[in-house]
Order: sequence, then structure tokens, then C-alpha cells
Amino acid sequence: MPTRKNKIEETCSFCGRSFSEAGMLLAGIDGSLICEECAKMAMSVFEEQRISQATSKFSLDRKQLPKPNEIKEYLDQYVIGQDDAKKYLSVAVYNHYKRVLQEKDENETEIEKSNVILVGRTGTGKTLLARTIARKLNVPFAIVDATVLTEAGYVGEDVESLLVRLLQACDYDVKAAEKGIVFIDEIDKISRKADNPSITRDVGGEGVQQGLLKLLEGSVVNVPPQGGRKHPEQKFIQVDTRNILFICGGAFDGIERKIAARMNRHVVGFENTGRRIDTDNLLQYVAPQDLKAFGLIPEIVGRLPILTHLEPLDRDALLRILTEPKNSIVRQYRKLFAMDGVELVLEPEVLELVVDKAIEFKLGARGLRAIVESILIDDMYDIGSHASSKTRKLVVSREYAEVKLSKNYTAR
Ligand code: ADP
Repeated sequence: MPTRKNKIEETCSFCGRSFSEAGMLLAGIDGSLICEECAKMAMSVFEEQRISQATSKFSLDRKQLPKPNEIKEYLDQYVIGQDDAKKYLSVAVYNHYKRVLQEKDENETEIEKSNVILVGRTGTGKTLLARTIARKLNVPFAIVDATVLTEAGYVGEDVESLLVRLLQACDYDVKAAEKGIVFIDEIDKISRKADNPSITRDVGGEGVQQGLLKLLEGSVVNVPPQGGRKHPEQKFIQVDTRNILFICGGAFDGIERKIAARMNRHVVGFENTGRRIDTDNLLQYVAPQDLKAFGLIPEIVGRLPILTHLEPLDRDALLRILTEPKNSIVRQYRKLFAMDGVELVLEPEVLELVVDKAIEFKLGARGLRAIVESILIDDMYDIGSHASSKTRKLVVSREYAEVKLSKNYTAR
């Protein structure tokens, strides 16, 4: 490589130091110059970049990308029921990552991003589905509650904060975050209040939806690294949201009325189609216009083209949730006891009791763990004595569980 000596008037194109200060300058073919220190610094930047790429915990390539049926099979191991949602989600996620991993070709048809919205009662598995999919694909994943987001300038978190969570989930590996999945829970809670007579701005509603819109569409966003409010002197991390998959979830309490109203109109128009409507579970007919009627702005609905629903969990589903998933609650407690050398046996009637209580207190699947915890809390506290006993087996009967429940359990 040519070096230039004694050219005192020439300076390093990077730091501006002159030849006499820098000692030696290397020249590029266009005449630009670099000093030893800047070259070293450049080396270390390359090195850092190489290490961060090599050590990224998150990697996904086209060959590894599981097919929709494989994704669904994986979901089946962790999530009970919800076949429709699983199918839609598996296809949506597969298509999304196919698009992300496609080789760039100028002439190719551009595939648009398809974010997802899951509608279903609380505790039916929306978050669990999103989390399980992210685990299968080995991509960064963050959950954000839409209710904490506010329009910029109001008390609360800016919409960018959801990207901070994603960055935190992958130790600020920006490249990985840009292919991650964000689950936005309670999206229904930022609905526009059509009947809100207030003339002040709708702080928690439309403004936040507008803010979210730009993330869902795909844009380069300046993210304050530590989260919180933006301030002018702060350095930002730029995150491109084009390839981030957003999965939104919401219970949309009362949306059945909007669905019924729409279907009534529809049914009047097509009286003789003979289609039977399952009025006990109207959620299965949810359509984009119902989300609009509920208060999501049309632009947001348009950016969530994959719409699917979750079924309410019946008694049978709750029983299966207790025991069947790979990391079911019962398996987890068995493992905890086994780690102290105690075999835990929950008689089948105990499981029935747990489910009955969850239904009685209208807690759905969310309540199951707390109920089991109160049945076993005393034994977990006394685990030392169990472990030293000869039997090393704890058999929990319904009577025993009832006593423990009435002593320890208060429905929250
Ligand atoms: P949602 O997001 O719909 O409110 P979650 O996914 O957070 O509900 O579910 C809460 C908990 O209930 C989960 O952690 C899981 O233990 C259990 N659960 C809910 N639905 C299911 C399901 N379909 N299969 C297995 N477990 C479930």
C-alpha cells in the first residue's frame, strides 16, 4: 500500500490530524488518508461487529424455517385447543419469515408484511401462542401492554418503548431485534371512544393508535436506548420495524354485540342461505369491520390483516391444560418436588377441584396455578421434612386439597 511521507500539509481524512502529528498516513485510491490510530480504531470496530454477529444468539435461515404444519405441531405441545388460531398464526409467521429471508431480487413481487390480531377472552392463550412461536423460531420476543402506551408528550410510555423491550430481550442486538416478534396485549384498550363526549384529546386512544401505526407499517424509528422519555441530547438507536412481526391481542369485551348487529343485517339480506349461526360463540365470526366498530381506526385494522379468534376454554380444556402441555402446571410442580426427592401425586379428583374453583371464580386458565399453589404451599414450605421421611411420596387427595384451599386460597 502506498504511504506518504513528508507531506506535512496532508491530514488524516478521519480525525484531521496532520502528518507531523500522526507520523504516517496511508492513502486510498481516491487520495483519502488514514492515520495509524484511526486504522486501529476501524479494526476494532470491525472486530466488534464480527464478534457481535458471530455470537448472536438469534439466527434463522431459510433452510431452518419450519413449515406451517411443523409450527402448529410445536404449538400443540404447549397450547391446548385453539386450532384455528394456531393454523392462522403458523401460516402468517411462516409467510412473514419467508418474506424476511428472501433473497433480494429487483424484479420479484414484493410481499407485504402481514401482522396478526388475535381476539379472545383473557386467559385463553393469546400470549402463550405468541411466546411459543417466538421460541420455536429463535427470534427475539417482547410483550408490551398497550395500556401503558400514551401519545408522545403525555404521562406514560411513548410507543417507541415497545422497541426498547425488544432490544432488551436480545441484549441490544439490533439486527436480531429487527427480525423479532412483538406481542401487543390489550390492543382493545386503546380503542377510540366514540361515545366519549370530552373535547380534550383522547389521550389513551386514537393518538396512541396513530403512533402505533407507523411501527406496524414499517419505518425507521429512533429508540432511546434506556427507554423512557426522549430528550434532545440523547443518542438514539435506529431500529427498522419493516421486518418486525407484530402480533396484537385483545379480549374486545362486548364485541359480540357488534358482530351480532352486523350478522343480523347480513342474515336479513341472505335469509335463505340456511347457514346456522352459533350464537353462543359469536367471536368465531369476527371480521375487520367489527374491530372498526369497536373503535380501532381503519388504518390500524388495515395493518393487521390476519385476524383470528380464540375459543373460550371449557372444563375439559382446563383439565387438559393442567396436565397435558409439555410444561404443564402439574408437571412443573412434580418436578419441583422431585428436585427434593419427593414424588408428588395429585389424585384426579384434585384436578377436578382445581378446575371447578377456576371456573367458580371466573379465572379461566390464569387461575389454575394460584389454586394449585395454595394446595401445595404448606408442603413446599415443609419440603425438608418430606425429603427426610421414608416414604418420599406425597399423595394429595380431594379432602386434603379442600382443607388447604379453604385455609390458603383467596381468589384475587
Ligand atoms: P391471554 O394472553 O389470552 O390473556 P395467556 O396466554 O397469558 O392468556 O394465558 C395465561 C396462562 O394460562 C398461560 O400462561 C397458560 O399457563 C394458561 N393457558 C391459557 N390458555 C391456554 C391454552 N390454550 N393451553 C395451555 N395453557 C393455556
